[in-house]
Amino acid sequence: MIGSLLIANRGEIACRVIRTARRLGIRTVAIFSDADADALHVREADEAMHIGPSPARESYLVGERIIAAAHASGAEAIHPGYGFLSENADFAKAVQAAGLVWVGPNPSSIRAMGLKDAAKKRMAEAGVPTTPGYLGDDQSPERLQAEADAIGYPVLIKAVAGGGGKGMRQVTDASAFRDALDSCRREAASSFGDDRVLLEKYITSPRHIEVQVFGDSQGNVVHLFERDCSLQRRHQKVIEEAPAPGMDPATRAAVCAAAVQAARAVDYVGAGTIEFIADASEGLKADRIWFMEMNTRLQVEHPVTEAITGQDLVEWQLRVASGEPLPCTQDELAIHGWAMEARLYAEDPARGFLPSIGTLEAFDLGDSVRVDTGVEQGASVSPFYDPMIAKLIAHGADREEAREALADALDEAVVWPLRTNAGFLVELLDHPDVAAGRVDTGLIAREGEALMPPRLPSEEALIDAAAALTAPGPLAGFRLNAPMRQAGRFLVGGEPVDIDVTDAGEADVTPDRLLVTEGGQTWLAEPYRATGVAAGGAADGAILAPMPGRLIAVDVAAGQSVSKGQRLVTLEAMKMEHSLTAPFDGTVAELNAIAGGQVTEGAVLVRIEQGDA
Ligand code: ADP
Ligand code: ADP
Ligand code: MG
Repeated sequence: MIGSLLIANRGEIACRVIRTARRLGIRTVAIFSDADADALHVREADEAMHIGPSPARESYLVGERIIAAAHASGAEAIHPGYGFLSENADFAKAVQAAGLVWVGPNPSSIRAMGLKDAAKKRMAEAGVPTTPGYLGDDQSPERLQAEADAIGYPVLIKAVAGGGGKGMRQVTDASAFRDALDSCRREAASSFGDDRVLLEKYITSPRHIEVQVFGDSQGNVVHLFERDCSLQRRHQKVIEEAPAPGMDPATRAAVCAAAVQAARAVDYVGAGTIEFIADASEGLKADRIWFMEMNTRLQVEHPVTEAITGQDLVEWQLRVASGEPLPCTQDELAIHGWAMEARLYAEDPARGFLPSIGTLEAFDLGDSVRVDTGVEQGASVSPFYDPMIAKLIAHGADREEAREALADALDEAVVWPLRTNAGFLVELLDHPDVAAGRVDTGLIAREGEALMPPRLPSEEALIDAAAALTAPGPLAGFRLNAPMRQAGRFLVGGEPVDIDVTDAGEADVTPDRLLVTEGGQTWLAEPYRATGVAAGGAADGAILAPMPGRLIAVDVAAGQSVSKGQRLVTLEAMKMEHSLTAPFDGTVAELNAIAGGQVTEGAVLVRIEQGDA
């Protein structure tokens, strides 16, 4: 077994790999960019090497620096994780040429599966059913249009070098083909440096079914059953599960056999995933499931397979890379229960799923289900990398048990002031079709608004919050209408709300502001003040953004003297302008505001210190 391992990745997958390596007694080496100097994966590893500036192009994607870091730290092997360089055959080759162990398939297998058109041709030759379509070298628009007409609409245009859901266009009729082709090509050229495309029949009622495969250097290949990843937003997986709902044993046997055949055709060693697209208009049928692509790496959603098989796939990877045979034969593998995973993203569903950046002042995902994360409370989410901050994985005796456990865990998730998709995931898991296992890749787009989480907490949660904020307590002097109010106006998530607290129970602490968590969403609640800021209060002179928004004016400079009531910054949010004013005479000791900048709720924009500079 290898004795030391460098993990050429960051975030949750780096932490995930470190966990297993540590259990196996392998010394771990993390790599990090400027932005990740304090990241969790850096602290969890035995050692960490700085490899460059924050942009991935200058750090996590620079193969030579990573190999140099492996040499400098004495690491024997490199695990690429997923994303970044994990499917880069040249990097895999360079790692091996440097005398290091590559924890992944042979570079030739990666290359064979790297381009979607070549992979499909190879699979068709190996007798694996592939999606009908056009894979030709003639890339002239006229030829492509003629091929699309012949396939029959709807047609899907795919960048041959595409990945991560990018470089795809669905075309519903001939007249729209040319524009879609041009736009697909532009995206492919800028994202992948290759504008070649292939055409596929667009499968209606599509379900994404994939099979986990594993090979070793002795020539053994097994499968670890299927996963269903049909719940997607813009071709990106959101919720994954294993096994697939409605998969009968005969269909499972056929699709898993096709996956093993596909892996054997490229002499596959290590962890891989064969992705299939199924026409599920009449349920899952063996003759309506086609090869789509192979991912030659560990997959984001591998934990659901671990849960149902009881295997540790990272351990398998490390054993296979060390030259050992697969830990299990096919006969020793079986499905136990059901598992579901949700990808938690720092993004705001209410704003078109825009990434939400900043410091995680509150972050608690509980411990009722498996949580794979790369962040913790106090960490910051930077704009440089993928906004996925955690995965929650529930395992139950059956699908309903797994689904409920996952929904409950998401329901209680506390993340603030960053926004997440947890509320959206709760709605999705509770959707009647999802609950019944009627999933397809179009469900999320079709349901749209119906999956948007509520804008405000429930009446009950609001009343409880209001009661906690108005009960007599040590901070009574800070409140507006003290003593006890029966009804009043509060700011909840930046919005003024009138709440009657007459019926609310006793609360014996009176915080200035508190977090209200419900249905996977967290709001900041505080007494409403008609003028200036409520948030932060005058006590420490910190002027916080009372809600997320855009700064339209910054009227002060660092070090400037200000007087009580003077306007400091103006925030535009909820289609309104909010002026934040100085709570007392003093000096601008800290200024974190630039005109035009976006801010998250609770961000410290200005800090005023009492007295003159
Ligand atoms: P999977 O089926 O495992 O989700 P994807 O192709 O969607 O496969 O990518 C896996 C993960 O790798 C993504 O969730 C993302 O975090 C990361 N990733 C993929 N492509 C990129 C990219 N171009 N830049 C940054 N991260 C990426
Ligand atoms: P990527 O490399 O971006 O993961 P894939 O080829 O795996 O690209 O396709 C991503 C997703 O697009 C699939 O999971 C599926 O939802 C959808 N998709 C791909 N091909 C088809 C098709 N022929 N018909 C319908 N949907 C498809
Ligand atoms: Mg894919």
